Amino acid sequence: MNDTLYEYYGRQKNDMESSAVPFLIFQMLNENELKVVLISDGICRLFKGDRSQIRYVLENDIVTTVHPEDAEKIATVWKQFLKEHNEFDAVFRKQIQNEFRSIHVCGDSHLTDTGERLYVVWCSDVTDVVNAEKINTYYDKLTGLPNMTSFGIFAEQERARMKNRGIVPAFVYFDIRDMKAINEKHGFAKGNGILAGTAFVLKDVFGKDAIARFSDDHFVVLTQKRHLEQKIEQVNDQILRNPMGIPVQVCAGIFMDDRKEYDIFSSVDRARLACRSIKKDYARRYRVFDRDMFNEYHQRRHILTHFDEALENGYIKLYYQPIIRTITGKICDMEALARWIDPEKGMMPPSQFISVLEDNRLINKLDFYMLRRICENLAERKRQDMPLVPVSVNISRTNFEICDVFDEVLAIVNEFNIAHNLLTIEITESAFIKNRQFLENQINKFRESGFNVWMDDFGSEYSSLNTLQEYSFDLIKLDMRFMKNFSLTGKNHLILSDVISMISRLGVNTLAEGVQTKEQLHFLRDAGCDKVQGYLFSKPMPCEYFLKKSRNGLQYDDIKKSSYYDRIENTNLELPVTFDNYSGFFGDSTGIAAAVLEFHNAKFKILKANNAYKEFLEASGEDPEQIYSDYYDWEMDMTPQFQKIAKKCLQSRNPEMINDIINEKVEINARLINVAYDPHNDLGAILVIINRYDTPSPPLLP
Ligand code: C2E
Ligand code: MG
Ligand code: MG
Repeated sequence: MNDTLYEYYGRQKNDMESSAVPFLIFQMLNENELKVVLISDGICRLFKGDRSQIRYVLENDIVTTVHPEDAEKIATVWKQFLKEHNEFDAVFRKQIQNEFRSIHVCGDSHLTDTGERLYVVWCSDVTDVVNAEKINTYYDKLTGLPNMTSFGIFAEQERARMKNRGIVPAFVYFDIRDMKAINEKHGFAKGNGILAGTAFVLKDVFGKDAIARFSDDHFVVLTQKRHLEQKIEQVNDQILRNPMGIPVQVCAGIFMDDRKEYDIFSSVDRARLACRSIKKDYARRYRVFDRDMFNEYHQRRHILTHFDEALENGYIKLYYQPIIRTITGKICDMEALARWIDPEKGMMPPSQFISVLEDNRLINKLDFYMLRRICENLAERKRQDMPLVPVSVNISRTNFEICDVFDEVLAIVNEFNIAHNLLTIEITESAFIKNRQFLENQINKFRESGFNVWMDDFGSEYSSLNTLQEYSFDLIKLDMRFMKNFSLTGKNHLILSDVISMISRLGVNTLAEGVQTKEQLHFLRDAGCDKVQGYLFSKPMPCEYFLKKSRNGLQYDDIKKSSYYDRIENTNLELPVTFDNYSGFFGDSTGIAAAVLEFHNAKFKILKANNAYKEFLEASGEDPEQIYSDYYDWEMDMTPQFQKIAKKCLQSRNPEMINDIINEKVEINARLINVAYDPHNDLGAILVIINRYDTPSPPLLP
């Protein structure tokens, strides 16, 4: 680690020092000498001193200003903070101009590009909160701001006062853009710092107006119309100058309460709608609630007021969309999707109601309702002796914040006596999760109990590579946008095949959503994508449609063969495969041709092959397109030597070497490895690795 004092220069220094957010940055030199790197204007205001005084106290005399009863506690966390560089979060009393104020501090540290460890500490004055009798009822602990409950009370009085004075009250709803990404990228301590900083900036800009933190990264202010636009700009300017240099931006929704008296929360709801409508529109900083938004507003209200009735009366229906296994072309799973068929509004797709239910923490009711319908349907399929394939149920991430999803799912599945391998849990990335560890435990519990767990919408705006690293999934669903932008001439297909290959190397299966053309299907198959889903095969249909043996000519995979296919899918043609007695194969990435051949009743077909294998087929005078063909007769289409060794490999299940001549001209040396075997259905799969092949060179003399 570098032991010289770090310095900020020029504009960056200026911006940070002039920030109204109270934070300071320091460094430890020569083991334990604290040296201040930067102090913001916010700190000077909070501690009521100038920079040099504050610097002096911090560097020389920090202990004497702490309340004696808090000294020991703070010294312990402080030491740990410096030693282990963990996150720091504490409240202590500090003397500021002859009185003790309760200060909430959160800290974190990071290494600079030049190797110095910098410690960043954010402070906020929470004296009012600590002194309030019912802290948790009325105030938010992190920011010291009133919460939703107390806002209801303050705002009611404030609004009446404003109206009496002829001022039009404006409700402003603030949302921090990409807060989830900030948490994922920079960690929760810095995320908390941003939240605390935003609260401070709002207090600074809106002064005595009613300000509250409603939930997560959502803040509400009741203010007046005058200078509102400039104030929103000012908020953005100030939070951009945060000590971590994180590019934070807020967007705001405004509701002018100029005519009718709505209740406070309906007014906030309107401001929230306006805010939500520009959340993805980075060019806009704010939007005022207008007439166009009424429909949306009424739609939301309709959903909330009719949701229970819709569940009771069965207006919410179970639809299925089949999922196809690439190597068999048959249905291997179904995804359960909700459709709300409302007597008043007609068919409502999930895009209209899922986010409303998530925002209002009602999504658990929907997801468990859907799970019950799935279990009923699976039981019915069993009764009718219909083919059974696993059904995947979408569980919103928000659900993991509301309840113990594992316990709830287990209770329902056991009530209907449904085998665990018939249910797949799809976790959508639609909300940021606060308790990572909890989600990880939940996923592990599901998998240990025999359920599959899939991650939905990978590659959409919410997901990140971190998620792949931190949680264990059985399969990753690639978001539809990969298919939307698909073209063999652009860059997208290169990214897609690398993503598929990367995920396979982690030992995780892949599924592409939104497959609509044969071209896409063939590309995905070549790229080694295990499963596909999309309108090419079927749109989502009511579950009753699938109570027939086949649909749109689609057959079902036999669930008894799934472990056989799993082994084939897990055979990666691009990287070292490790089996009991074989390891160390490098395929396509090193140009080695590899394919998996399936043998059944003296017939064979190529299930999957890498590009090098296709080149090998071409060089041997074979049609590379044959990998999409049906079974070949092995008496007719395979050399006697290859037949003999393949049979031996299938019987002994040991790897075999073979030297052979194909089409009387190409000499090959290959390795055959039995990768999967299904004795009940007489199926065997062999991985063929062509170590070497020599095409005859043209004769030198005629
Ligand atoms: P999802 O889980 O990613 O589901 C796939 C969505 O893509 C479905 O939309 C499906 O109809 C659509 N889709 C499938 N193939 C194609 C295609 O080839 N082209 C196009 N353009 N679209 C295709 P849907 O049914 O509207 O569902 C939207 C989202 O709503 C789902 O995305 C899922 O996140 C959520 N959702 C649906 N049902 C439930 C539920 O019961 N609970 C929860 N929590 N979320 C649900
Ligand atoms: Mg899904
Ligand atoms: Mg999806």
